[in-house]
Amino acid sequence: MPEGHTIHRHARLQRAALAGERIRAWSPQGRFEAGAAKINGSVLDEVEALGKHLFYRWDSGDILHVHLGLFGKFKTFETDPPPPTDMTRLAMANGRAVVYLAGPTTCELITPEEEEELRARIGPDPLADPRGGRRFAGNLSQRRIPIGAALLDQQIIAGVGNVYRAEVLFKCGIDPHRPADQIDGDDTAKLWSTIRSELRRGEAAGRIVTVAPHDAGVRTRADIPREERLYVYKRGGIPCRRCGETVLSTEMANRLIWWCPTCQPARPPT
Ligand SMILES: [Zn+2]
Repeated sequence: MPEGHTIHRHARLQRAALAGERIRAWSPQGRFEAGAAKINGSVLDEVEALGKHLFYRWDSGDILHVHLGLFGKFKTFETDPPPPTDMTRLAMANGRAVVYLAGPTTCELITPEEEEELRARIGPDPLADPRGGRRFAGNLSQRRIPIGAALLDQQIIAGVGNVYRAEVLFKCGIDPHRPADQIDGDDTAKLWSTIRSELRRGEAAGRIVTVAPHDAGVRTRADIPREERLYVYKRGGIPCRRCGETVLSTEMANRLIWWCPTCQPARPPT
C-alpha cells in the first residue's frame, strides 16, 4: 500500500501536469463511466492529498475522491501515451499529459458535505497540516494501544504506512510496544517532526531512504545503495546498523513490524 509521501507526490505531479486546464475524462473500463462523463470538459482547479486520499476539485463544483488502496496505481505520460487498458478506471488528459488510474479502492464523485465527513475521520497529515502536532498528541493520549499500532491508524495520524512506522520508531528510539498514551510530550514532538521530515524527503525523492549517510558509510544520501536505505524494516535476524544487536520482528495491527531492542529499549533510559 502506498504511504503518504507517494500520494502527495501524485498530487504534486498531477497538479503540474493537468491543473488549470480543461480535461478530457473517460472510463475505459466503464466502471466510472457516469462520473467521468460528469467531469469531462471541466477545468481541474486543484489536486489535494490528505493522508492516503486524493481530492480533485473541478470548476464545475464537482469533487473527485480517489483512494488507491492496496492495488491502485497511477500512470502519468507526458509524451506518447500508450492506449489505456480495460483495467483503466479513469483516464484524464489535456493537450500535454494523460493520467491513467487503475485498480483503486475508491474512485467516486462526492459532495462537499461528504468530503467534510470524510475529513473528520482522517487524522492530521504531517505534509498537509504542519501544525497538526497537537492533534496528534491528543489522539495518542486517548489510546492505550501500542505506539506501533497507533501509527498505522489513519484516524490518529494520516499517511504513515508499514515502512515509515518501523523506521520512525527506530529513529526516535521508541519501543513499538510502548502504549500510545504513555509516550511523553518530548517523544510525541520528536515523532511528529521525524515523521514530517521523513515524509517530506520521501515525497521529494519518490522513494523511502531513512538511513543517514554516515550510518551507511557513505557521504551523501544519493550514494546509499538500495539495500542499505532502511534501518530495521524487513531486517529481522540481521545485526542493527547502529549497535549490532539482532533486529526483532513481531506482528502488530496485522502487519509485521521490526525493531532493535537496544536502540529502542522497552523503558526509556532515565
Ligand atoms: Zn540497535
